[in-house]
Amino acid sequence: MSGPVMPKADAATMKRREEIVADMRVIVPGEGVVDAANEMRVFESDGLTAYRQLPLVVVLPETTRQVARILKYCNERNIRVVPRGSGTSLSGGALPLEDAVLLVMSRFNRILDIDLANRAVVAQPGVTNLGITHAVEQEGFYYAPDPSSQIACSIGGNVAENSGGVHCLKYGLTTNNILGVEMVLINGDIVRLGGKHLDAEGYDLLGLMTGSEGLLGVVTEVTVRVLKKPETARAMLIGFPSSEAAGQCVADIIGAGIIPGGMEMMDRPAIHAAEDFVHAGYPLDVEALLIVELDGPQAEVDHLIGRVEKIAGDNGATTSRVSHSDEERAAFWAGRKAAFPAVGRISPDYYCMDGTIPRKELPRVLAGMRELSEKYGLRVANVFHAGDGNLHPLILYDANEPGELERAEDFGADILRLCVKVGGVLTGEHGVGVEKRDLMPEMFTEDDLNQQIRVKCAFDPNHLLNPGKVFPQLHRCAELGRMHIHRGRVPFPELERF
Ligand SMILES: Cc1cc2nc3c(=O)[nH]c(=O)nc-3n(C[C@H](O)[C@H](O)[C@H](O)COP(=O)(O)OP(=O)(O)OC[C@H]3O[C@@H](n4cnc5c(N)ncnc54)[C@H](O)[C@@H]3O)c2cc1C
Repeated sequence: MSGPVMPKADAATMKRREEIVADMRVIVPGEGVVDAANEMRVFESDGLTAYRQLPLVVVLPETTRQVARILKYCNERNIRVVPRGSGTSLSGGALPLEDAVLLVMSRFNRILDIDLANRAVVAQPGVTNLGITHAVEQEGFYYAPDPSSQIACSIGGNVAENSGGVHCLKYGLTTNNILGVEMVLINGDIVRLGGKHLDAEGYDLLGLMTGSEGLLGVVTEVTVRVLKKPETARAMLIGFPSSEAAGQCVADIIGAGIIPGGMEMMDRPAIHAAEDFVHAGYPLDVEALLIVELDGPQAEVDHLIGRVEKIAGDNGATTSRVSHSDEERAAFWAGRKAAFPAVGRISPDYYCMDGTIPRKELPRVLAGMRELSEKYGLRVANVFHAGDGNLHPLILYDANEPGELERAEDFGADILRLCVKVGGVLTGEHGVGVEKRDLMPEMFTEDDLNQQIRVKCAFDPNHLLNPGKVFPQLHRCAELGRMHIHRGRVPFPELERF
């Protein structure tokens, strides 16, 4: 099986494995250390299941003090550490390394404080995204960012990936909805960034931590902002004869100054897969389907539905339905929310990509994707966060067919190159991880990358936290600036890189 080239295992660490395991048992007594190969198997991959690797040892701490002791211990002995939440990353961010401690945060699973007067909830990082909403929904509140994985993914993982979801068009991504974190640095120091207050002085270190993919520190507590549930929410299902028409409709809705609570698009293969799976009532005779949700006061929602219907009609919509109850609205969303597993039913394997493009480039990118689909001989189904221009092409392949995984990977890389070419970016919400690591030079210059690595060096000079992720080369911080990489062409091939 192909896979990303990862940093070479450190021989000294591998030799000391038994001693390290014993020391971890002292720091985390009880059942918090797992070292038997068959028991570590469940941790060998994350949501990017094509890649697997057993870790050195799995450690499940319960307290911030334990996390601090583990990191200090590892830092002093040059041992690598891979943080992990629920392991749903689609970019391989939590992929273990054979010489690294896998630091699993799932036992940090308590809500610590609900402070509705400040619209804040303080949670441990292993609490699931949906768990936060569950904690406050009786009072009419909710946590807005809603990744499709929200039933399983952890709020700590959300911070590390700056995760998004259907409602982020209107309410923002994780970075717009967290107020503070407690985190542990690789040397064991415990620091707090932000809090319940709305702003903090100095550099925006909270912003820096959000989306840092486990490379800068381990999050041990998160303070999020919760919102009052809107008075009304209604969803519309709008069908179009082409993806281009649907894309134009999206642009016209935003251009008219309307920001829906959510605006998602599915193409024909995704519509059919979802309808066969959950029977959401989707029209099957359209090429593209928009789900548009309007939320707010009843009168405003009713008014906006009329305006969206008019814009859709002007763009040639062939079908339009509006939900009349919460049950019907949930049914409209059910197909979209189940789109990934639905596609899993029509293909043995699929590879989910995550590029973001300027909305107006949608027709060009879709046409390019069709050409690439023919070139690689693989089908692709598309679901998008249309309002944000965030694409999720699902490339269908069969890992048991020799060469298909490699073709799917090459196809995916070409899609992301296309996104960058039209002015977009490599990732919208799934992170770089190992998946897009080697494509970073497509988007960033050598100077850009060096500057980002200098930030990493300020937090973790020995590259012990999640190495092999995000950055396409191994730097000693001291020699930064001496290695020149242009568009992936590396001048000193004898230096270790991955
Ligand atoms: C079916 C499915 C649907 C998905 N839909 C969406 C979606 O709609 N939107 C979206 O944004 N994502 C989506 N994802 C991706 C994934 O759920 C998110 O990236 C999520 O935030 C990962 O959380 P996790 O707890 O599983 O983190 P993990 O997968 O365990 O880790 C992810 C990264 O975060 C780091 N990390 C985890 N916890 C910590 C911590 N406490 N401190 C420091 N670093 C940490 C890890 O090192 C790793 O780099 C989906 C995944 C699946 C499988």
